[in-house]
Amino acid sequence: MAPPGTVTNWSGSVSCAPSARTRPKRTSDVARLVRRARHDGITVRPVGPAHSSVPLFTTEDTLVSLERMTGVVETDPQARTARVLPGTGLRELGEELAERGLAMQNLGDVDYQAVAGAISTGTHGSGITLGNLSSTMIGGRLVNGLGEEVPFGVDADAGVADPLLRAAQVSLGALGILTSLTLQLEEAHQLHRQNWITHIDWVLEHFAELIETNRSVDFYWYPRSDLAQVRMLNKPGQEPQMTPPGRLKTDQTGPNYEIIPNDRMMKFEEMEYMLPLDTQLAAFQQIRERIKSRHRAQVGWRVLVRTIAADDAMLSNAHGRPTMTIALLQNHMLPYKDYFDDIEPIFWDCGGRPHWGKKHTLNAPQLVEMYPEWRSFQQIRRQMDPQGVLLNGYLREILGEEEI
Ligand SMILES: Cc1cc2nc3c(=O)[nH]c(=O)nc-3n(C[C@H](O)[C@H](O)[C@H](O)COP(=O)(O)OP(=O)(O)OC[C@H]3O[C@@H](n4cnc5c(N)ncnc54)[C@H](O)[C@@H]3O)c2cc1C
Repeated sequence: MAPPGTVTNWSGSVSCAPSARTRPKRTSDVARLVRRARHDGITVRPVGPAHSSVPLFTTEDTLVSLERMTGVVETDPQARTARVLPGTGLRELGEELAERGLAMQNLGDVDYQAVAGAISTGTHGSGITLGNLSSTMIGGRLVNGLGEEVPFGVDADAGVADPLLRAAQVSLGALGILTSLTLQLEEAHQLHRQNWITHIDWVLEHFAELIETNRSVDFYWYPRSDLAQVRMLNKPGQEPQMTPPGRLKTDQTGPNYEIIPNDRMMKFEEMEYMLPLDTQLAAFQQIRERIKSRHRAQVGWRVLVRTIAADDAMLSNAHGRPTMTIALLQNHMLPYKDYFDDIEPIFWDCGGRPHWGKKHTLNAPQLVEMYPEWRSFQQIRRQMDPQGVLLNGYLREILGEEEI
């Protein structure tokens, strides 16, 4: 059991013992606590429900939860936008938006995250025409490391090309504490979900057609059986003709915010990399061979393959390229390190960029090479937080800011 005062992430592999924990209700409270921390020379880290499995949120100083700043503040049905508060859970967000006839364009595998936490790491679902959640943030406000409230994107009348917006879309909480987010949404809509169990060879043969003909499709591969679970999500009436041969496991229709996310009772550790889209799945094939030859006995769970549309957020791992993602999932009670360490170089060789909220071993020297606008992000980060009030040790390492 963790000692009292310890804050632990969802899977239990990351924890910290902050000297203070605070749950502000207003932006002015957030600004005040950042100014005080700056004056005292201590660190402030924002946290959501801590579903990340790397030490992004950890601090020995002040941990700020936005869980009391929740809800949809206003919507514009014509423009299909909404202004929402940072601590709003994705589930609650879906429900509140539906009451106003609106919906998020896409969601990830679960809806347990808070909107600011999910957006800050580039959380994504699947679909070649669907961007990650960060790309749907078109404006907002943050309290920077100087304790100032700064609008960006449409909230600053600067539009979606605003460099501060493109930095804030995937910021790891290193530019400031988001206190309001303006989201580009869709009309509320229903989705039809079918999960098929089939052989992996059929999926490999038909992957290009699957991703072209479904609004959203992904698949799990089960290393021990070589079976795959293909999840297809489409608006009713727009389903493709082609369905996998095999067993139909799930067949549901409902509002998108209920149909996309899953319940995850079993905890797991995860490594996920974003790779250039390759319909031949060469990286997956290499990983499959490696798992079958070296890890099949130890791998307790499955491998997940998804796609994401390209975007232009500075630190988005879908920056500038249509993307496919491969995730290794391992039950949290089983060893994961040797397995992840052995596969990770395959991701590097295939041009992969790691998910910011999941296990990986990279630091600034490698990451800088992966992001064409890395230095622009650095410059904006230094303007927003010159003293590093928002930097913990882990962020200093991955952002290459050890000297601050
Ligand atoms: C079961 C499970 C399923 C998952 N499924 C997916 C998936 O399908 N797709 C995917 O891409 N990822 C997925 N993830 C990863 C997850 O979406 C990300 O790690 C996400 O960032 C977690 O959100 P959170 O709200 O828990 O934030 P936290 O983990 O608490 O924080 C994440 C980051 O956001 C920052 N942050 C939090 N609040 C603010 C704020 N107000 N202002 C600025 N920064 C802030 C934190 O400092 C930290 O850097 C999954 C994780 C789990 C455990």
